[in-house]
Amino acid sequence: MEKTHGQIEDCLSLDSRVMARYKVFDGGGSNSWAWRKGKSQEVFSSITYHYDNGGLVLSYTCNEQQHRYLVDVVTTPCNYGGKRYWFNCPKCSKRVAKLYLRNSMFFCRTCHKLNYSTQQSCKLESTRVGMYKIRNKLNWQYDTAFMKSWHKLKPKGMHHSTYNRLVQRHDELERKSEQYCIANFHAFMNRHGLKPSWD
Ligand SMILES: [Zn+2]
Repeated sequence: MEKTHGQIEDCLSLDSRVMARYKVFDGGGSNSWAWRKGKSQEVFSSITYHYDNGGLVLSYTCNEQQHRYLVDVVTTPCNYGGKRYWFNCPKCSKRVAKLYLRNSMFFCRTCHKLNYSTQQSCKLESTRVGMYKIRNKLNWQYDTAFMKSWHKLKPKGMHHSTYNRLVQRHDELERKSEQYCIANFHAFMNRHGLKPSWD
């Protein structure tokens, strides 16, 4: 069977939250970012980066080609102070926490058409997209990585009835997307002959 979608598990990724933890975005300058093998911690791949004032320039060689391009780094305030770092996908400009290397480029999951598993997660995607649209419309702050929402406030000037309808729709989509997420997880476990311990 031919695979049309890649798997996230197969890809090297850059995570803005991890990079922030390693102080990549403090100050600026050039350094290298490495991926290590589990136990041995042996480096199996690395890239060079230069960070300066919201711009992360990635440099690496992939498939014998030299790549060098800019990834915008943006911040949003955290609930309890501090800030959270995000990437703007270099292809679609969507704000994301993770970029994945595929076909020599670091793009977001959507641009690479990546799934969490070989099972197509179209249903999950479409419910999430619907959910995010509502969140944007209501101007809610949310965490795309963990799908947690907070500050569920009614935007100024919006009718209560409209607001209530959107919240209801949002909660419905959120519930559905959680169900699809769990279904995908179970499918993944099954394929690998694993059983969740709570079964
Ligand atoms: Zn993208």
